[in-house]
Amino acid sequence: MSLKISEEEFKKILESGKRVDGRAFTELRPINIRLGIVERAEGSCLFEMGHTKVLCVVRGPTECVPAYIADPERAVLDVAYRMCTFSTEERKSPTPSRREVELSKVIREALEPSILLEEFPRMMIKVYCLVLQADAGTRTASINAASLALAQAGIPLRDLVTSVAVGYCYGNIVVDVCSIEDELCADIPIAMLPAYRKITLLQSDHRLPIDRLSEILSTAIKAIDQIYELQKKALKEYYLSSTKTGD
Ligand code: ADP
Repeated sequence: MSLKISEEEFKKILESGKRVDGRAFTELRPINIRLGIVERAEGSCLFEMGHTKVLCVVRGPTECVPAYIADPERAVLDVAYRMCTFSTEERKSPTPSRREVELSKVIREALEPSILLEEFPRMMIKVYCLVLQADAGTRTASINAASLALAQAGIPLRDLVTSVAVGYCYGNIVVDVCSIEDELCADIPIAMLPAYRKITLLQSDHRLPIDRLSEILSTAIKAIDQIYELQKKALKEYYLSSTKTGD
């Protein structure tokens, strides 16, 4: 899946106006969304962005365990992001890594502003994000999947949360990075409440030119608006089909 390529070859492809996987700079990978696939859970969503596949499952609101972390004012949102051992080319260790602990927190913080947690004091809402296959953008696919699974679970939301990672590659801005781009470029994961135009996640561990920041953001927001439409369409289709089948 991850084609090895030299930095020189990578730059040449970009200079020709294309990307390693043949996409245009602002083109998303194909997105496929399935809701309600785990029948025992209140909410579930399989979200595929190209080769990246994430299954998100929502349980709750339930009793808060352990009880001492219960908040009398609001529900506790508990997020667990994990990569399956078979999700990467080389077997990933089953022991939760520091990265998985950090991404669980990052995903929780991106989702929290969307949820009316204050409606469920002392309760807990659990979100499990299982990466089945990783080709970059697993945190953004997890956020997209989790938000849909929360909506399907009937948890009251202010808006969906929609997320994408934009790459800054040798002066070019590319949308929805794959893992080769993730290795060779600065990647900038962003999440938003699209209806409110509010950003709930913005990360980058690379230096970026300040004069390109607004272009990077506006490119990401255009991609987020496209993904948001697909999320809403998937939710509508799920409810229309479950009304027909009486689920
Ligand atoms: P994200 O998946 O949100 O882009 P990172 O930037 O940390 O998060 O990871 C980029 C990509 O690197 C992952 O999607 C995956 O393809 C690869 N990767 C991350 N962790 C591992 C790992 N432990 N083993 C193999 N590949 C990994």
